Amino acid sequence: MNIILLGPPGAGKGTQASRLVEERKMVQLSTGDMLRAAVAAGTEIGLQAKRVMEAGELVSDAIVDGILSERLDQEDIARGFILDGYPRTAVQAASLDRMLAEKGLHLDHVIELAVDEDALVDRISGRFSCAVCNTPYHDRYQLPKVEGVCDVCGSTEFKRRADDNEEAVRTRMAEYRAKTAPILPHYEAQGIVRRVDGMAPIGAVGQAIDDILG
Ligand code: ADP
Ligand code: ADP
Ligand code: ZN
Repeated sequence: MNIILLGPPGAGKGTQASRLVEERKMVQLSTGDMLRAAVAAGTEIGLQAKRVMEAGELVSDAIVDGILSERLDQEDIARGFILDGYPRTAVQAASLDRMLAEKGLHLDHVIELAVDEDALVDRISGRFSCAVCNTPYHDRYQLPKVEGVCDVCGSTEFKRRADDNEEAVRTRMAEYRAKTAPILPHYEAQGIVRRVDGMAPIGAVGQAIDDILG
């Protein structure tokens, strides 16, 4: 089972992907995580992406297509993958079609997390994650079960993202509206889009996704 999670920043893509990884042993392919790892490692790509990401703009299609294509060559994706944050433009959607055809892979569902934009700044400003395993949390909606200890790996170190400030979030939403939402019809034409109410509590969103995946 291979899926795309589609939705604006803060819609809950990472949260739901992380649960599917835990519960179904699927593989999460987050281009945002891959780019942040490149920034942290100080690679050529990281150096190019850093300022663009901090501003909330989109990194170039060529860079993102390149890192995703390489990732799709790793064997673990046979467990089923979740695209989280990719594709984000029409060019990326076309590249993905080409990559999947070349590698003999297919998509089962595009799950659209439908959310109310007003909720997104609130969600993103409360977002933090485990510094070791990246599990996502929220100051009010998703705290670790034991305060200060990651549920998944037991780490006591957490981090917040440099681009989770109101100004960058507004830019990211504008980018989503202008460039990412317009790719939905491409998948609607293939009959694989499933819409989920992303405003429901985290567990209910997860249940709706489970109902789709079967
Ligand atoms: P995305 O990957 O789409 O940008 P995240 O999964 O990181 O979004 O979610 C953004 C923040 O909102 C996180 O702090 C997460 O804990 C929280 N969150 C995710 N889904 C929900 C939900 N359904 N209700 C309330 N908060 C949520
Ligand atoms: P969110 O879901 O909160 O928007 P992501 O972690 O998916 O955050 O992305 C963070 C940033 O990384 C984006 O604002 C953008 O700069 C860059 N990025 C991630 N994925 C892509 C992509 N597919 N195309 C272009 N830029 C991307
Ligand atoms: Zn952890």
